[in-house]
Amino acid sequence: MRISGFRSMDTVTAGASDRDRHDRQRRIEWVDMDGIASCRVLVAGAGALGNEVVKDLVLSGFRHIDVIDMDDVVLSNLSRCLFFRDSDVHSGMKSEIVASRASELDPDAEIRPIVGRIQDMESWNYDIIVGCLDNILARMHLNATACGLGIPYVDGATDGMMGKLQVVLPGGPCLQCASNRSHAKALERRFTCTGSSSVFVPHTASDITTTAVIAAMEVRETMKIASDRQDLTVEGVTYYDGTAGTVFTLDLDRDPQCPNHTEE
Ligand SMILES: [Zn+2]
Repeated sequence: MRISGFRSMDTVTAGASDRDRHDRQRRIEWVDMDGIASCRVLVAGAGALGNEVVKDLVLSGFRHIDVIDMDDVVLSNLSRCLFFRDSDVHSGMKSEIVASRASELDPDAEIRPIVGRIQDMESWNYDIIVGCLDNILARMHLNATACGLGIPYVDGATDGMMGKLQVVLPGGPCLQCASNRSHAKALERRFTCTGSSSVFVPHTASDITTTAVIAAMEVRETMKIASDRQDLTVEGVTYYDGTAGTVFTLDLDRDPQCPNHTEE
């Protein structure tokens, strides 16, 4: 089929801007593509959120990404993880597959897999940590580590059509501050990994549309930090309700009882 209006494709030539992979992003006022390209990011978790986050990071120009996960691929992952295939089920580790396939999106991106638990990591040479975890123990360990080392931490969580986002900047309120807030506890209980009396909830509802929204929000906050625009990052705790189509944010201050800030 031919579309009228064009006599020949060779009458249309690509301008210099179309030969720049990230030309359209450079047009966003606050984006610093050099800062993004040099930023060292740790993605904690290579499940549904991790797949989406790594995809968005690579497409956004991040070139130094480590991704850690301890699990292999199972069939129920395939409804929410664009990098996994049927042939990966029980035959590949999540972090290794994500790193390999995401590298195809940009040959200049260095994506390194780590197979193991976040609690066992020894080296923390990162500029930003992005949390894509599904259990409270790992999440609180990551939160405490980020606070202790002064590394910005962007955390996301989903439960069915509900999602949650929090940016933890050095010296600012953290996940534990949020979980200690009594007014937030009723909301927090709705989410897989925060403030729940349950240590681990293995099979909560999950949906790719909510995952994609929260992952995109996480990467956008990561882009702001990498662009040295912490002033633009979302404050407090942001909640997304996909059924109602609403987003709202609860204010959050540092909890004076929070152990992650007692030495400052
Ligand atoms: Zn705290």
